[in-house]
Amino acid sequence: MKGYDRLGPELARRLGAGRIRVNEPLAAHTSFGIGGPADLLAEPVTAKELGALLQFSRERSMPHVAIGMGTNLLVRDGGFRGLVIKMTGFRALIVCRPREGGDRLRVGAGVALSAIAERAAELGLTGIEFAGGIPGSLGGAVVMNAGAYGGEIAQVVEECLVVEGDGSSRRLAGPALGFAYRSSAIGEGQIVVEALLRLTPACPEEIRRRMRDYRLQRERSQPLGEKSAGSAFRRPPGQYAGTLIEAAGMKGTRVGDAEVSTQHAGFIINRGRATAADVLALMERVWQAVQERSGVQLEPEIRIIGDDVPP
Ligand SMILES: Cc1cc2nc3c(=O)[nH]c(=O)nc-3n(C[C@H](O)[C@H](O)[C@H](O)COP(=O)(O)OP(=O)(O)OC[C@H]3O[C@@H](n4cnc5c(N)ncnc54)[C@H](O)[C@@H]3O)c2cc1C
Repeated sequence: MKGYDRLGPELARRLGAGRIRVNEPLAAHTSFGIGGPADLLAEPVTAKELGALLQFSRERSMPHVAIGMGTNLLVRDGGFRGLVIKMTGFRALIVCRPREGGDRLRVGAGVALSAIAERAAELGLTGIEFAGGIPGSLGGAVVMNAGAYGGEIAQVVEECLVVEGDGSSRRLAGPALGFAYRSSAIGEGQIVVEALLRLTPACPEEIRRRMRDYRLQRERSQPLGEKSAGSAFRRPPGQYAGTLIEAAGMKGTRVGDAEVSTQHAGFIINRGRATAADVLALMERVWQAVQERSGVQLEPEIRIIGDDVPP
């Protein structure tokens, strides 16, 4: 054993063997279906377990990273040296009592955005319809300030509970969340545990109609049946990355099994056996082509973690 995988048995004794995996292929935890192994992967379901994991990492100076549903993530082929904390076990969705404001939902980091949008529609609450077709979790959406169709998570997050690397927890609200286009001030060492969403009562039929419209638009424009991590590049101010990539003649370009989607040039898809190296090489080619054609320097939107080569 070369990495932190040697700590697997000890961590499993502390947390319960069912919650710890050793040398776990991260391809299985990302929508790209790409990525080498994590030395250790843990799936806590309570704040106490999360605290124990962070304490364990700290005592051993072991790097850690939190992930949600892995839908905005490219893991390099060598995998991750340290502990990956998968937060999808934090599944609470609580409708707050009227004295706290009947239009608020307290939602665990692991809840799927589609489930939140569905529950809000049932309750006749508007504000989160835009997220119904985004395939990630609430935690990932807060970190990324996920958005679509004119909406973004920043518009509905009232406050957010994060745990720091030292195990202490903090409530972040307002400017401390630092929301900007597809980003937030939540740093690498911080883990989102839950968020309080503020929604507005509205006509349930209207809410359902909007969700249907958004779903149809998404189905028409995005390669939903393919393995991808959504838009590979951020939208440059006043422009669309997909349009620039198409104008640069890159639609359908391939490196290995990584391909610029012919349906939506903003998406890179894994046609089967793409490696992270293929995706990164293709992103580099796209970047060059767009820079030469339009002078715009694209920036990645997908988050990239891990090492190029195994230990
Ligand atoms: C087909 C498709 C369509 C998409 N459409 C959209 C879209 O319309 N709009 C949009 O904004 N995005 C879109 N995405 C991207 C993605 O779904 C969103 O960014 C989503 O919010 C990511 O959530 P996740 O749980 O998958 O996060 P992950 O991919 O697991 O993680 C993303 C980042 O957040 C961090 N993270 C995740 N959870 C936590 C946590 N609990 N605490 C701290 N850090 C955490 C990770 O370390 C990583 O840096 C799309 C993706 C796909 C595959």
